[in-house]
Amino acid sequence: MTALPLLHDHAKAQLDPYMALIVGYRKSGLSLNHIIGCPLDCGYCVRHFWGNFDVKIPHLLCSTDEAIEQLVNHHAFQPHITPIQLFNKATDPFLPGVKPHLFQVLRALDQRGYTNHVLVITRFTVTDDDMAQLETLRHLRVTLLFTYSGITDPRVEPIAKSEITVNSIRTAAAHKKRTGVVLYWRPIVPGWNDAPDTMAAVLDVGRDVDAIVFTGYYHKPENADYLRDLGVDVPYADEYARRKVMPGELDGRVVAAWRASGIATPLFRKTSCGVAYAHAAPDYNGHWGVRELCDICPAVQQQRCTDDYRAPTPADMDAVLAQLGYTTDYVIEDGHVWTHGLGEQRRYAIQHTLRHQIWELDQPHYLHAHGRSLLGHTPDASQVAALAGVRATFENAARYEDD
Ligand code: SF4
Repeated sequence: MTALPLLHDHAKAQLDPYMALIVGYRKSGLSLNHIIGCPLDCGYCVRHFWGNFDVKIPHLLCSTDEAIEQLVNHHAFQPHITPIQLFNKATDPFLPGVKPHLFQVLRALDQRGYTNHVLVITRFTVTDDDMAQLETLRHLRVTLLFTYSGITDPRVEPIAKSEITVNSIRTAAAHKKRTGVVLYWRPIVPGWNDAPDTMAAVLDVGRDVDAIVFTGYYHKPENADYLRDLGVDVPYADEYARRKVMPGELDGRVVAAWRASGIATPLFRKTSCGVAYAHAAPDYNGHWGVRELCDICPAVQQQRCTDDYRAPTPADMDAVLAQLGYTTDYVIEDGHVWTHGLGEQRRYAIQHTLRHQIWELDQPHYLHAHGRSLLGHTPDASQVAALAGVRATFENAARYEDD
C-alpha cells in the first residue's frame, strides 16, 4: 500500500471548512471525504473554489478506520437506505495511494451486510483486478461513474491524451456483473465538446455501460479565471450565478445526438436516475415528481419509479422528522413537499428516506414571513403568485442543478 501523508493539525486548521468536512450530505448521498488532494489537474476542477487545487498529493485528514466510524455513526446514515459517495469531492478514488482506502471502506461496509447504493466517481485507471475485487462484494450496490467528456484540449482535460479513462470504461464494462457502470458525460460545455462528431464519439464509448448521465459544469470565477489564464475560451461570460449549467438548447442537442447514435445504452439527466437504473431500482431522489425529466427514460425504469412513487402522508413526514431529529413546518403538494429552514443537508436526508422531492420555501421570504405556520394558512392572491414562482424555480433547479 502506498502510504499517504496525514495532514498535520496546523494545515488542517487552515482548510476551508468545506474541505475539512469529512462526512457531509449531498444530493447524491452521504459523502465520505477523508482524503483530499489530486494530481490530475482537470482545468474546471471544483477544488478551485476551496483553495485546494494546488494540493497535488492526496493527504489523509484522519485514518480510514476513523472515517468509516464517522460515516456509519453520522446521524443521517441509515443502513440499506442512505446512498453513499466515496471520495467525490477532492481526490480521485482510483489514484494509487487512494485506492487501498477505497477498498478498505467498501469491504468494511459490505461486511456489515449493508445494501446501500455506493457511488464512486473516477476518471483514472480501473484494472481487471479492481473489477474482480468489486465483484467479490456481496451486499453493497456499488456504481462506478466514469467522468468522461470527450474534451481533448489538454489545458482543460490533461488526462484525455492518455486514453486512461476510455480504457477504464472498457475494462469495467467487460467485467461488470453486480457492479453498476455509468459513463458520466460531463462537463458538456459549448465550444469545448458539443460538436456533433465529439458527441457521437462519447456516445460510442458508452455503448456497453449500464447508463450514460450527462450534465454541464460549475461555472464560477475561480475556475473560469484559471482557464482564461491558460488561454482557454470559457463560455457564459461572467454570468456565474445565473447561468444554468445545462442550457435547454444544449440539453436538446445532447438528447438528439443520443437518439441519432443508435446505441442501446439509456441516457439520464440525473445522477441518481442512472445509478438507480444500473441496479434495477427506482430513483432515490424522487425525480418522478418532476416528470419532465423522465421523457428519455426507458419504459421499464419509468414503471419502477411509478410503482415506487407515493406521496408522503403527514404521518410519514412526522415520522421521518422525528427519526432524524429535525423540526420544520411542511406542505405536501403533488410531486414534492415544501419545508422551511432545514438547509440542504437535512433536506436531502429526508428526500433519500422518502425517495421524494423535498423543497425549501425559504427562498423569497414568503408565507411564513410573519411567523405564520405553513399549515392551515390560506395565502392571498399575491402569495399564490409568488408561490408559483418559487415552485417554478425548484422545478428548474431539479432539472438543471448539478449533483
Ligand atoms: S422515471 Fe424519471 S425519476 Fe425514474 S429513473 Fe427515469 S428519469 Fe429518473
